[in-house]
Amino acid sequence: MSLVIDNVGELVTNDEGDGLLGLRRDMAVVVEGDRIAWIGPRGEAPAADERIDADGGAVLPGFVDSHAHLIFAGDRAEEFGARMAGSPYTGGGIRTTVAATRAASDDELLRNAARLVAEARRQGTTTIEIKSGYGLSVADEARSLRLARTLTAETTFLGAHVVPAGHDADDYVALVRGEMMDACAPYSKWVDVFCDRGAFDGDQARAILTAGAERGLSLRVHANQLAEGPGVRLAVELGAASADHCTHLSDADVAALAGSDTVATLLPGAEFSTRSPYPDARRLIDAGVRVALATDCNPGSSYTSSMPFCIALAVRDMRMTPAEAVHAATAGGALALRRDDVGRLRPGAKADLTVLDAPSHLHLAYRPGVPLIKTVLHDGVPQ
Ligand SMILES: [Zn+2]
Repeated sequence: MSLVIDNVGELVTNDEGDGLLGLRRDMAVVVEGDRIAWIGPRGEAPAADERIDADGGAVLPGFVDSHAHLIFAGDRAEEFGARMAGSPYTGGGIRTTVAATRAASDDELLRNAARLVAEARRQGTTTIEIKSGYGLSVADEARSLRLARTLTAETTFLGAHVVPAGHDADDYVALVRGEMMDACAPYSKWVDVFCDRGAFDGDQARAILTAGAERGLSLRVHANQLAEGPGVRLAVELGAASADHCTHLSDADVAALAGSDTVATLLPGAEFSTRSPYPDARRLIDAGVRVALATDCNPGSSYTSSMPFCIALAVRDMRMTPAEAVHAATAGGALALRRDDVGRLRPGAKADLTVLDAPSHLHLAYRPGVPLIKTVLHDGVPQ
């Protein structure tokens, strides 16, 4: 089946075109099957079976949300309410979700995660990473990843999210890098560790990440969210695809990222929902660090599935330009997942894109909270 999207006012390609976003104007895009077949001036597109009229609106690559925790049960609205009333976030709330997740059936967990994937899709997300991390036992982590695998190819083993209640930290690290890793690796592409104050230290994180690499998993790290520490430099040293959060960075951390292939993935939903200082995206970009934006969607510290919301926060509060934020939410996310078939629009790329009910990408931050996503194509299929 083929499909033409005609009357595109502004096409964000992240490829050939003007500026960072590779902008092209007055274009058409032809899709065949799940791939982009042709891009060119509007009115000149080859014939196709179906037609979508973009009506002068902008067309963007689908958002690539490279950081989400969707396998869980329950929510923590009360905790959010208390925090907004003045109680600080300590990270202990993860254990609340662990208890609810362990008590839930496979069907409950899958339905909740599928609901969130659909919610993200309606807001323009066409690629989403999903982590485990609310099971924290061999059986519960393995089933989290088995369920996640039915929703995305980008699955991440995060057994090292927090030390579960009643466990010695070093014993738990040994479990994660041994029996739990063996049970989870078949369902995982990535391994991740929460390396931060109150979570896992540098030596523990290194032991888990290297054990994952030995089993063929690629690396990502929750790093420097709550305090400066070894997370970012460890991610760079071990060749991780991404260091996520990057809120508290030394000059040495920024220099290490700038000289590496590790993407800094910024998660402003977490700072929004914990009323914490945002990461300084401007400092990173000016140093030459490659940056991604993602939602960190989880029931405790960032319960949003909305990439447009994260773009708006990044522009308003992290000193990113609208073009930088849109790039970070598309091509940046793809880079953080080491994918070259998504996050950009060019012949041969996956036909994952969004049509905006707005004339340019600027409107995503200019009109925050407004549902501007008119049409989403995923694998070439209108959603
Ligand atoms: Zn996270």
